[in-house]
Amino acid sequence: MKKVLIANRGEIALRVMRTLKKMNIQTVAVYSDVDKDLPFVHFADEAYCIGEATPSQSYLNMDKILNVAIQTGAEGIHPGYGFLSENAVFAQRVSDAGIKFIGPSIEAINVMGDKLDAKQAVKKFDVPMVPGTDEELTDIALGKKIANEIGYPILIKASAGGGGKGMRVVDAESQFEEQFERATSEAISSFGNGAVFIEKYVQQPKHIEIQILADAHGNVIHLNERECSIQRRHQKVVEEAPSPVVDAALRAKIGEAAVNVAKSCHYEGVGTVEFLLDKDKNFYFLEMNTRLQVEHPVTEMTTGMDLVEAQVRVARGEELWLTQDEVPLFGHAIEVRVNAEDPENDFLPDLGKIVHYKRPQGLGIRVDDGFEEGLTIPLAYDPMIAKLIVYGKDREEAIEKTLKAIDEYEIAGMSTTLGFARFAIDHKEFRDGSFTINFVGDHFKPEMLRKEISAEIGEMSYEIFKKIKNEAEPVYEDQKLSSWKSKR
Ligand code: ADP
Repeated sequence: MKKVLIANRGEIALRVMRTLKKMNIQTVAVYSDVDKDLPFVHFADEAYCIGEATPSQSYLNMDKILNVAIQTGAEGIHPGYGFLSENAVFAQRVSDAGIKFIGPSIEAINVMGDKLDAKQAVKKFDVPMVPGTDEELTDIALGKKIANEIGYPILIKASAGGGGKGMRVVDAESQFEEQFERATSEAISSFGNGAVFIEKYVQQPKHIEIQILADAHGNVIHLNERECSIQRRHQKVVEEAPSPVVDAALRAKIGEAAVNVAKSCHYEGVGTVEFLLDKDKNFYFLEMNTRLQVEHPVTEMTTGMDLVEAQVRVARGEELWLTQDEVPLFGHAIEVRVNAEDPENDFLPDLGKIVHYKRPQGLGIRVDDGFEEGLTIPLAYDPMIAKLIVYGKDREEAIEKTLKAIDEYEIAGMSTTLGFARFAIDHKEFRDGSFTINFVGDHFKPEMLRKEISAEIGEMSYEIFKKIKNEAEPVYEDQKLSSWKSKR
């Protein structure tokens, strides 16, 4: 493979290109008109504008992307995450054009893209699953009966759901009908597929996921776990590897289950099998994501393996170059998602121009970002600015270094999740490892962040600080910058 097109944008496009360049592979970028000044466009060996910001006109437009791939003679397409990365039709079309889709087989994408199909596929492998139904539920009376048997609270989930969407918690039978109807109509409007099912709502669990690596010859190994329990709206904000509560024996058990999930769909490449882990260390299969995950760098930092390089090697047909026993695990890594969001306003996007930007630096500090000072975070896409990944020789060192790196990170022009991440990582429950997916609901109130921020800014009143960080009224950029500087 001498030339690869990256069908994505922002930090992940840049991150993928870095590895491709390391491997002496030519890179082709495709971009939408609002992204023309982004670093990934300039970093690529060739770059082509394929349309307007609306994803259907650009990053989701298969015809345009395939055209560029064919015209430029790309031999592979790397889809990154999001956009077309888990789209079986795209994978098929890429393959039909004689180009290698750098990802799993069409079968794996199809099976794992649907939560009910995935449950059916893994059934024969004895993988533990959350108690519930494994078929589409259409009959409300039957649903109520099952929910009563399982015991409330339960979750009604969309089979085609993703990104934390399409889930409804039901606390009692009296709410069942209403929530069932809402879940179904939400599933139709968001995913075009109204199929829903029931799962027991696991109380105070942890989200633990296993990184899979498989070749095209049937060999499957796992690259340890990631702990991703710090979430808002069922979406991850802070991730780490390894998990503070998973020991070698449990890792081997969950790892084996994950390898079986991958085998059930003849998996190829890198993928992630997600589980819930309850207080008694029982684990339950949730789903498999058939792509590179946002949080893959914490696995890279603690194994020393480049997962994009691994994807390319598998795509070239190489047999796995290490056995399960040879998979390294050293030190500890933490990732913080730096999103342009306001944690004080329910984590809603807070977009705008980055008027000042300075990355933290130092040994074991990695920043995967897709923007630079002066650029604007566009409305059309995910509001992620960067990922801060910190490595320490042990968890304690990783925590301290992450807190320092957050303090050193300077972003002005919008609110970000950095302050929230600092609050979470410095929290007693994070430090002792007992935190669960309910951390935000149980412990986080915007006022707490205010205290954090007030401490950080000394005499300056919170109201002034907020005005600088989170301009409600339009303020000139130089004014924004100088007021931001004055608080440092
Ligand atoms: P998605 O595909 O939308 O990411 P998942 O099934 O992976 O959906 O679940 C996302 C998150 O929702 C999990 O990380 C967890 O926080 C929560 N969740 C999912 N299923 C359950 C469950 N049965 N009990 C409790 N929490 C759950």
